[in-house]
Parts: sequence; structure tokens; C-alpha cells
Amino acid sequence: MGSIVAIVGRPNVGKSTFFNRLIQRREAIVDSVSGVTRDRHYGKTDWNGREFSVIDTGGYVIGSDDVFEKDIDKQVELAIDEADVIIFVVDVTSGITPADEDVAKLLRKANKPTLIAVNKVDSNKNMLDATEFYSLGLGDYFTISAINGSGSGELLDAVVEALPEVTDEEEEELPKFAVVGRPNAGKSSFINALIGEERYIVTDIAGTTRDSIDTRYNRFGFDFKLVDTAGIRKKSKVKENLEFYSVMRSVRAIEHADVCILIFDASRGFDGQVENIFWLAERNRKGIVILANKWDKVDKETNTIKEYENAIIERIRPFVDVPIVFVSVLNKQRIFKAIETAVQVYKNKSTRIKTKVLNEVLLPEILKNPPPAIKGKYVKIKYITQLPTPQPQFAFFCNLPQYVKDSYKRFLENKLREHFDLNGVPVSIYMRKK
Ligand code: GDP
Ligand code: GDP
Repeated sequence: MGSIVAIVGRPNVGKSTFFNRLIQRREAIVDSVSGVTRDRHYGKTDWNGREFSVIDTGGYVIGSDDVFEKDIDKQVELAIDEADVIIFVVDVTSGITPADEDVAKLLRKANKPTLIAVNKVDSNKNMLDATEFYSLGLGDYFTISAINGSGSGELLDAVVEALPEVTDEEEEELPKFAVVGRPNAGKSSFINALIGEERYIVTDIAGTTRDSIDTRYNRFGFDFKLVDTAGIRKKSKVKENLEFYSVMRSVRAIEHADVCILIFDASRGFDGQVENIFWLAERNRKGIVILANKWDKVDKETNTIKEYENAIIERIRPFVDVPIVFVSVLNKQRIFKAIETAVQVYKNKSTRIKTKVLNEVLLPEILKNPPPAIKGKYVKIKYITQLPTPQPQFAFFCNLPQYVKDSYKRFLENKLREHFDLNGVPVSIYMRKK
């Protein structure tokens, strides 16, 4: 089960600088609809072999210096609700401000692991100035410089330490679905169409926090759990901050799911924001089903479906082997198909291909199309095996793994997809020395 780390703090303390350092690259996304460049404010990272999602809550505050304190408060409250660990960033050059005290007050009341990162400690000179942050009443602090990277290792050690234990043993083999997407895509309508009637609920299994409640359903003859539907009941709490709230919820739900049902409003298009959610699910190695909703609103001609499919495929290259279902939640059209597809993706994700079968099928393909020689050296792939991981991962054993280029790995992935049903499932390909 994945975990979420939220970065909170008032504007200009260096949250986004620190976030970008964690995510390691600036993943600006140009929204094709508005033409506006948007930075990503959430992403996946890892430290000491532990992966987690990071959210820069500051990315959702509009304006910079003149933000109202209550806006920051709301972000912090949501972060407390949804995250597993909170990094509270403060600025050594300005010392404690009233806004910092405000945030600290909320965090002291909350029962969440919180780490203070005193930022802009670029050299030993201002190390001593950091001591005043003890008085925030949140315990020890970490001094960092988001700009030059110093101190972040110790902070991340502590973050990983504070993350909840990973529970590997899956209690039961039920597919866990998360319904994700932008505000107004039709998520609640879809969930209501699925679960509207209480009698389909099988049991309520309360998670460790009140936000991770998986509810079990038996609907259309399928047995599955919906992840984190509880959040929907809290919606009123966050009217003003819909995009941020929705991202928080999506990140959380994705982390906890096997398959993400990504809904978008087909009458508005598959835009950069939808794409962000798609890639987060992919980075998390979750199964994905895309639902093009509100199909009732779209003027349809002979090729409309094909055109829509192509437009989506352009955005999700190279991971294009993903099912797209055109639905109208309003008219309850193809709801069954949507769930059926999600169940199929779950099965694909659980595929275990025997080593013998893999080799019989793939070695001849490799023989026909061997990796190109590099510097006069030939790469020989000797055998292939699927690793015993929850998501499909394949190891290709060969003499010179470092010479295999990404383009050839993509070729191997395509061959895998051609021969085995991995529709909707991200796969990993590793070259190993043998
Ligand atoms: P946010 O509003 O909290 O996300 O803050 P930003 O990341 O946008 O940073 C605000 C300003 O502080 C920018 O001008 C950054 O370049 C600067 N800054 C961020 N981290 C550091 C740091 O470690 N040292 C110094 N000297 N400046 C920093
Ligand atoms: P959420 O924010 O993603 O949970 O979206 P909602 O389920 O609240 O839906 C947003 C709006 O879209 C509501 O007014 C719904 O009635 C409407 N809506 C949802 N699905 C459909 C659909 O298939 N067709 C049409 N025309 N409207 C829909």
C-alpha cells in the first residue's frame, strides 16, 4: 500500500523548490485546452527503496504573498486528513511568522507524524538561527537547503521512518477499484450508479484511518471493493478548493487501488489535468481503465469514437494499451461494461506467465529482431522470466544488459503485449546480466 507525504507551509518558504528536488525534474504540463503551462504539484519519489507520493500543497494556493491565512489553513487541514506524513517547511531567513504559528497550531492538534524542515539553511552561517523553530512545539527540526540539496537526506530518512508499515499480505483476492478524475467528470454519479442501492454493499471494512475505508460490493455479478468512497461524503467541507481536494483524493485513492477507473468528461476533453492523473496511476503501476463519460452530450458521427480514441492515445504514448470505454453515467449506459473491463484489467494485472511459455513465445521474436549491435558488440538475450511481484515485471537475462536501449525495451514490451493480455496494465522490463 502506497503512502502520501504532504509538504505544507506558508508561501515563499521554498515548498515547490523542495518538491521539485524530490521529484527530480520539473514536469511542466501544457494544458492543450487552455494553452496554459501548469507545473505538476504531485508526483512519485523514493528514498532508501521506499516509494511514496509527494504533494506540494502550496501549488494550490492562488496568489503568493497575499494569501489569506484561512486558505493555508484549509490546505493544511486537508493535508492532515489525507497524508500519512507531513513536512512543514519554514524559512530560516524570516524566522517564525504569525502564519507559521497558525500552521503549527493546526499541526499540533493533529495526530499525524510531522517533520519541520527549516529551509534556506544554505550554509553553516544560519544554522544557529534555526533553533528558534523549537518553539513551534512540534519537536525536533531538520535544517535543509532546498536550493543546494543539503540536509534533505536526513529529513528523508526520518520521513521514511515515519511512513506506515508496508503490509504485503493481501487479506483477500478482491479487486480494489479507485474512481478518479477531475471535478465534475462524473465520479460521484458513477459511484452512485454503482452503489446507489445499499443492498449491494457486502461489508464495511474500516481501515486504519477514517479516510481509507474500502467498501465491498457485489454488483452485476462482480465482487470488488471501492477504495476511499468515504471522501465523497466529506465533499461539502471543501467546496472552495475543489481542484486541490480532488487531487488529494485521487492521489490517495490511486495509492490504495489495484485498478484506477479514470473518468473524464468527453464533452470537455482529455486535458492536461486528466493526463496528470493518468501518469500518476501509471507511475504507481496500477491497472487503468479510461471512461469517456457524458457520451450523451457528444455529437456523434461515424468515426467519432475512433477520433476520440486517437486523441487520447496521442496523450498517453507510449503506454497506449489501455481500454477506453465510452459511457453515459447519466443514462446508465455501459456502466456494466466499465466494471467488467476493470475486472478484466485486474485479472491481466495478476497474470503470471510461466517461464517456459514466455521463452517459447518471445525467444523466436528476439531471434527475428535481435537488439542492434553497439560498438561491434552483440547483445544475446538468453532467457526471460516474470518476477514474483504484484505487478507484471519481466527480467531479460543477457550478456550485455547495459547495451540495451529503451527503444528495444519498448519493442520487447510490445511483443509481450501482442502475445499476452496485458491490456490496461503497466509492465516493467529489466535487463539483467547473465
Ligand atoms: P513556495 O511558495 O513555498 O513553494 O516557495 P518557492 O519554492 O517558490 O521558493 C520561494 C523563494 O525562495 C524562491 O525565490 C526560491 O528560489 C527561494 N528558495 C527556495 N529554497 C531556497 C533555499 O534553500 N535557499 C535559498 N537561499 N532560497 C531558497
Ligand atoms: P464529480 O465531481 O466527478 O463527482 O462529478 P459528479 O458526479 O458530481 O457530476 C458532475 C455533473 O455532471 C453533475 O451535474 C452530473 O449530473 C453530470 N453528469 C455526470 N455524468 C453525466 C453523464 O453521463 N452525462 C451528462 N450529461 N451529465 C453527467
